[in-house]
Amino acid sequence: MSELMSAAQELDAADGLAGLRQRFVLGDDVVYLDGNSLGALPAHVPGRVEDVVRRQWGELRIRSWEESGWWTAPERVGDRIAPLVGAAPGQVVVGDSTSVNVFKAVVAAVRMAGEGRDEILVDASTFPTDGYIAESAARMTGCALRPVTPAEVPSALGDRTAVVLLNHVDYRTGRLHDLPGLTAAVHAAGAYAVWDLCHSAGALPVGLDEHGVDLAVGCTYKYLNGGPGSPAYLYVREELQDRFDSPLPGWNSHAEPFGMASAYTPAAGAVRGRVGTPDILSLLALEAALDVWETVPVEAVRAKSLALTDFFLRCVEAYVPGGRVGNLTPVAHAERGSQVALRCDGAGDVMKALIGRGVVGDFRHPDVLRFGFTPLYVGFADVERAARVLGEVVAGTGHPHPA
Ligand SMILES: *Cc1c(COP(=O)(O)O)cnc(C)c1O
Repeated sequence: MSELMSAAQELDAADGLAGLRQRFVLGDDVVYLDGNSLGALPAHVPGRVEDVVRRQWGELRIRSWEESGWWTAPERVGDRIAPLVGAAPGQVVVGDSTSVNVFKAVVAAVRMAGEGRDEILVDASTFPTDGYIAESAARMTGCALRPVTPAEVPSALGDRTAVVLLNHVDYRTGRLHDLPGLTAAVHAAGAYAVWDLCHSAGALPVGLDEHGVDLAVGCTYKYLNGGPGSPAYLYVREELQDRFDSPLPGWNSHAEPFGMASAYTPAAGAVRGRVGTPDILSLLALEAALDVWETVPVEAVRAKSLALTDFFLRCVEAYVPGGRVGNLTPVAHAERGSQVALRCDGAGDVMKALIGRGVVGDFRHPDVLRFGFTPLYVGFADVERAARVLGEVVAGTGHPHPA
């Protein structure tokens, strides 16, 4: 056995989270490093979804809105996500997609910012949907949109800045941005900070309340394992809720939704972020999936995530022939999320070969191999195997060294 294989065994033996893996449906022959795109299925979820479909829908039918807690599920599930993002209850509501929630958050922030503030700053390397939505929100609100790197945000801020939309972790490189520092800079300029937590929630502590974040959004099908297309969440800081003027004021966010009034009166609290009828099947699959977190402190997840990515980088260095891949992910812990991105010539073909050999990551155009490390179900032996197979695949493909 190689030195790295025995190192992996020791790390697995000392891993306090190792037992969680059996709560997920994962084949023994696959190393799943794509939980940052679609989290694995928790083993108890199918049974719970079956109950929702057969009993709650099939037998109780309309009564379930009340008796099965369907109507209040968006806030209830929001309160279960809240501790994972460092939020006290009553500030997170679940529903719609991340894209839609970005729209609500950015437009509402511009409306809060008020007269004279007519510029939106957006992370220039953002996940595309955030950029598209910010552009449309800017046009609709008469703002200018300015793409800047997160590092440029402090110098780009001014007395015309209304809102800054940032990603906590960059989806391509895995770089973790300085949420406390950037939020403080945004506030010092009198603007509002909207954070997209898609690649951080469930992988590392976020501290929304602690750091005074104004608004945040995130998806639940990545590190929260909610299932394909499970609904996203919206955080509105408690002090701002009375001023949160939603650009999508549907009947679900009305103070008296069943009053069927022709005039809109917004509800108080996180409910104000709702729009229309919630997607109950997906929402309750997500609620079931969140059970996994009941005994898991997010700090322990973060510690294991850093140990996994450190060990992966060490194994890649040992196994992958010199120069064949280049690491795009920051080495400093304070700047690293829970994934490792490697630049590699022929990355698309390399990833296909990896998947063919049971190592599932993903390919990001044009030359990036992306590996996500979900501490709930990825172990150190998985990491060692992934790097070893990568070394074998890359050595066999005959692609020249990256420039
Ligand atoms: C995954 C991801 C999204 C996805 O948005 P959807 O509306 O769920 O398709 C948005 N933003 C970021 C940063 C993401 O990583």
